[in-house]
Amino acid sequence: KAAIKVTSIIKPLNAYITITNETAKKHAESSDSRQKDCSLLGKLDGVPIAIKDNYCTRNHPTTCASKMLSSFIPTYDATVYQNLKNVGAVLIGKTNLDEFAMGSGTIDSYYGPTKNLWNSDVFKKFYSCNSQAKEHIQQNTDAHSWHIAGGSSGGSAVAVATGSCYAAIGSDTGGSTRNPASYCGLVGLKPTYGLVSRYGLIPLVNSMDVPGILTRNIDDAVLILNNVAGPDGFDSTCFQKEYVPFDIPDTIDISNFRIGIPKEYKEKHLSPEVQECWDEVSQYLREGGASLSTVSLPHTNYSIMCYTVLNRCDVASNLACYDGMEYGHRSDEWSSVHNLYRKTRSEGFGKIVKERILVGNYFLLEENYEEYYVKAMKIRRLISDDFNTVWNNNIDLLLTPTTLTGAPKYNDFISMDNQAQCSVQDYCTQPANMAGIPAVNVPIKLSKNGLPLSLQLMGPPLKERELLTVAKWIE
Ligand code: GLN
Repeated sequence: KAAIKVTSIIKPLNAYITITNETAKKHAESSDSRQKDCSLLGKLDGVPIAIKDNYCTRNHPTTCASKMLSSFIPTYDATVYQNLKNVGAVLIGKTNLDEFAMGSGTIDSYYGPTKNLWNSDVFKKFYSCNSQAKEHIQQNTDAHSWHIAGGSSGGSAVAVATGSCYAAIGSDTGGSTRNPASYCGLVGLKPTYGLVSRYGLIPLVNSMDVPGILTRNIDDAVLILNNVAGPDGFDSTCFQKEYVPFDIPDTIDISNFRIGIPKEYKEKHLSPEVQECWDEVSQYLREGGASLSTVSLPHTNYSIMCYTVLNRCDVASNLACYDGMEYGHRSDEWSSVHNLYRKTRSEGFGKIVKERILVGNYFLLEENYEEYYVKAMKIRRLISDDFNTVWNNNIDLLLTPTTLTGAPKYNDFISMDNQAQCSVQDYCTQPANMAGIPAVNVPIKLSKNGLPLSLQLMGPPLKERELLTVAKWIE
């Protein structure tokens, strides 16, 4: 009940597309009935969670924030959701995103943008009794000066940041979990590709999509990971080896860790405040006994361009199925099959999705395929090899910024087009998806204007335990 109440208070932030009232009640009641006998309780019994609206949930709308799927009700559950249900979690709602997870701001949703909690009207109401917050609020009185939540899992991030749920599931193809985590002051974990099943996650780039976890601290992220990771017969790209759950002790010794600071991540748009955070945490790690060294990942700069090509190609192919025939939106103005396809797709998709489909089909033309797709795949290998070289040189983890600044204001953000937005937003996060390695956003402190600032840790494949150990030490 409390969680549902919070979801209504935070309505103006537009974190949720669907609030699953009835289901939450059903899940909570069945959890209540188990409370009498501890042996029946699951690891997340009664715990409210939210799920990004690009995961299939049986009997609940799954829209991908698109008109195209606005009436789609799946007949099956995504494995991530099924796993959470199996341990007693309560589904509070389905969260907002950029249409089909294409974006970094949660501003391109058919259901309108999600606003960041920080500096919002809701924030003002929550914190109006805190004098420091009051002063800050007075300096930010312009109604249009709200900050973006980041994206594309911005709804999931705001759902957690407001306390309407304990944890939320996002997805991460180029940074979509870590970016909103950074802007909303949360832990955002992108596990190793293949550790968590993608079954039921509507694909963006199949070889890079990873279910992401958003929580308020590292221990919570570990708990959720332990309950969603593991083999799945429905996803052939999932590791088949049994997943071994782990805990992170409260006393952590980091003196054996060798941490690399990649020089290419000092991008020209990096704000002095984030740079300062990076320097301070590096120094703090050194004082804790870790050894730090500057390393190089020379192909970092090509990551966004390479991703752009691979993303557009997958988008063109993955979204070809939305033709008005089987499910989803169907135009009622048609006179032939060809016309039906055309009308359905032009009515059902937003501008950014259409642009990406067109560009992807161009890259995939027979005469362009080698020049774009094949070349991008080769560059992807180089980016991935950069990480392998670093791990082979005895580096355990990498410390970088997650985003180059704190959350931008909506008006500043929309002054750039989607491609320009992504190239700034995803600069530090995208390479981890190229290589399939685990990465986590760790919130560090507030900026001078009261917005969260964060850093990112990355590690070798399947080194979640080491990654989250150092993250917890920093936290
Ligand atoms: N910003 C990137 C894009 O728009 C990544 C999105 C994501 O990780 N889902 O494609």
